[in-house]
Amino acid sequence: MSRHSSRPLILGNWKMNGLSTDLPAIRNIDEIAGFYAGVEVGLALPFTLIPGGAAMLKHTMIGAQNCHARQRGAFTGEVSAAMLVDCGASFVILGHSERRQGQSEDNDTVRQKVRAAIEAGLKVILCVGESLQQRETGQADAVVRRQLVESLPNAPIAAPLLTIAYEPVWAIGTGLTPDAQAIEEMHRVIHDTLQSIGHPPSTMPRLLYGGSVSADNAADILRLPLVDGALVGNASLGAPSFSSIIRQASCAT
Ligand code: PEP
Repeated sequence: MSRHSSRPLILGNWKMNGLSTDLPAIRNIDEIAGFYAGVEVGLALPFTLIPGGAAMLKHTMIGAQNCHARQRGAFTGEVSAAMLVDCGASFVILGHSERRQGQSEDNDTVRQKVRAAIEAGLKVILCVGESLQQRETGQADAVVRRQLVESLPNAPIAAPLLTIAYEPVWAIGTGLTPDAQAIEEMHRVIHDTLQSIGHPPSTMPRLLYGGSVSADNAADILRLPLVDGALVGNASLGAPSFSSIIRQASCAT
């Protein structure tokens, strides 16, 4: 694990999963998070579970998976960043590929959401990553660079408020992961791009890897020098697998 002085960060993304009957599983995760205090743990829950999770958890940050770019108004069905803060969220995932693809969110939309989230007092986890076709045609670096430059506001966001998650689209939910060298290379591209747009190395945001992280491969990924933690989808839904990843993060520090 990383050059970063802060604790490794392990975030679970529950996507559109979880009912109130799953709150006990969340409590189990929280107990593990309390045990491994050297690891910062967060769960990005569906909107409906955020108030219940935030009221119950002691050691785990609670966050959301999206917010609207405006703070209020005639936007039926939307949830603003201020509303997320109001119900107990401390962070939000923005720019996830499932929203970039499924909801046609482009970099400009993501940038507006990032700005709204920071103004409301949320930490932002910004996701970037290339498709398989972009990787196979040698465009991965350029795509990720462009996502960063165009999805972030012009003024650099202070490091504790911003985390970047490198999530190759082709690795999400597929069981496929890039090899160690490819992860390191892309984290280097992200690091250098952030530096070029005004983030000095001393206040560099944490860089997470995401995409089919599991209890079986977490140790190998988390020990990479430029990896500060992981964004975990499927494997965060079960307390045993997510706990194992948290434990492996604590060993990688
Ligand atoms: C994700 O969707 O952010 C993710 C990393 O999913 P998975 O771990 O299931 O690939």
